[in-house]
Amino acid sequence: MKPTRLPASCLLSAAFLLVLALLSAVPSQAKSYVFFQGTQYPLAVYILKGLQPGPTVMVQGGIQGDEVSGFLTAETLSRAHVRRGTLIVVPRANIPSISRRVRAVNVDLNRRFDQPYDDYYEDALARVIRLLLARSDAFIHLHEGSGFYSPTWINAERNPKRWGQSVIIDAGIYQKTLHLSNMVESVLTRLNPHVRPASYRFALFNTETFAPNSPYGPEMRKSLTCYALKEHRIPALAIEVSKDIRPLDWKVREQLRAAVMFLEKFGIRLDLPPLKGVSFEHFADRPPEIRINGQTFKPGATIEAVAGEPLRVEVVRGSGDPFFHANPALFADGRLSLDLTKTDASLFSQVKRLDMRADGNELGSVEVRYTPARSAAGNTGQTPVFEVWHNGRLEEVASGQTMQAVEGDQMLVAGVRPQAGNGRAEIINIKGIVTRVGENTGQDADTDVVLDSGLFMPRYLQRGPDGLPRIQVCRETPGARPAAFYVSLAPRRVAGIRLDGPNGQTAMLPFRPGAGCRLQPGTWTLSEAWSNGSQDRLVALVDGLPLAFGESFTLGMGSSVSLEILQAATFKPLGRMTLAPAAMASLATKAGS
Ligand SMILES: [Zn+2]
Repeated sequence: MKPTRLPASCLLSAAFLLVLALLSAVPSQAKSYVFFQGTQYPLAVYILKGLQPGPTVMVQGGIQGDEVSGFLTAETLSRAHVRRGTLIVVPRANIPSISRRVRAVNVDLNRRFDQPYDDYYEDALARVIRLLLARSDAFIHLHEGSGFYSPTWINAERNPKRWGQSVIIDAGIYQKTLHLSNMVESVLTRLNPHVRPASYRFALFNTETFAPNSPYGPEMRKSLTCYALKEHRIPALAIEVSKDIRPLDWKVREQLRAAVMFLEKFGIRLDLPPLKGVSFEHFADRPPEIRINGQTFKPGATIEAVAGEPLRVEVVRGSGDPFFHANPALFADGRLSLDLTKTDASLFSQVKRLDMRADGNELGSVEVRYTPARSAAGNTGQTPVFEVWHNGRLEEVASGQTMQAVEGDQMLVAGVRPQAGNGRAEIINIKGIVTRVGENTGQDADTDVVLDSGLFMPRYLQRGPDGLPRIQVCRETPGARPAAFYVSLAPRRVAGIRLDGPNGQTAMLPFRPGAGCRLQPGTWTLSEAWSNGSQDRLVALVDGLPLAFGESFTLGMGSSVSLEILQAATFKPLGRMTLAPAAMASLATKAGS
């Protein structure tokens, strides 16, 4: 376990802080944070802090989108009330794969941890997962595997090549210190007697990942549990239920029971939300309400739209099943990489059909019927205009123009107006980057691209008249009028941050990486950052964990807090400052540290 942040010598102030914390009468702190908001792969993280100090344990589900129990179990845990320790929950690690109910979209995200990759959206997700794991003392991964694992061959369904109903570890004892098999055995001894039928009991599955002759080694060495062991030397395990057990309700409840037992083993104390009467079976039948141009989505309906005007898509939060909050998706004309519920941007170009899904469950489609534009100022015959989603907002960029962006912004090119004839799909080539797995076809439409000059092939990085690096985006649709625009990339600069303090005071801090700053102890709100781009392209980490703008952190009397600002998409550091309590120097001297 990592040491607590307060030095032992500051016992007085620690005791005082504890009293303060108890007085504040907050039962526990639950915070959520969404990484990559406005992209096709938002990643929600819940940080549940108990009043009693304890270890930090991370639980993750949904890394492979066809393993439904994992994300339902994690989702349920994200509503737990934590009494002791800190629980970090990532319920749906891989939203695009969940929306398609496939194991992998470009690459298997659970095979991207043997080295830092930088190729696909999966690699951006892996960066967040690594960042959270670095703050954790233990890790539990929730999966759903085929068949039933058995160390010996029993039949086709039950043998060493199956993964279901097992608890997976990479080593029995890791580096002589982590006794993983003992720990798992002791939990299974308590868990299994209650598993009915007995043939569904969980087996210990040691993949011997580090043994040179392990048949599982080559794959498992790329996995996240292996990374947790190797990089952080923290206990890590995977709880697999079986895809061959039908009732989802059974699987989620058993996986949940197992997860809670392991969490308790790691030192977390928690209360689950009330689950009586809750059915996990039809979780994705009642997603939140989706409105398109103000009309509620109903399978088979027709949506009215005006040619040349963007479709407006809204997710009505708080509607649908109050317990599950299935993740909705709305796809236009079968374009599965363009989920219209994930962004404020929309489509100008005409679509025929919209398909709705909830956590990958297909819920039907609507037709879209266009009436001609009200104004006569149609775009036909004029300069082609690109539909660009820039940081999740729609921008129209005419051919020949330059779009101003900041390093670390995100861009998705959704189409061109006027559209190519005969409903042909537009081919959009973003020069200098390959966005589709294993193919360099030049088709980069509908793909989120991080505008980081380091990710582009150097020979395609031109220098614009403003001296800044720029890239080119070309329309290469056969038979269509050629068109292109530039994207100019300015470096991102953070000028300052605004903090609002415990007594209503405001601190305007110039952002100077490496500098320190003294503040009155108490609760501070991270209100704002001034930079040359949009604030949502910045991630703030307080003591290594994400803090949304508008949320607060506590500056204790006995310890300082680190405030780090990163580029949101790439996590490139923009700088770190230390915030120290104003009275800390004198206190520390008195305590004799
Ligand atoms: Zn899996």
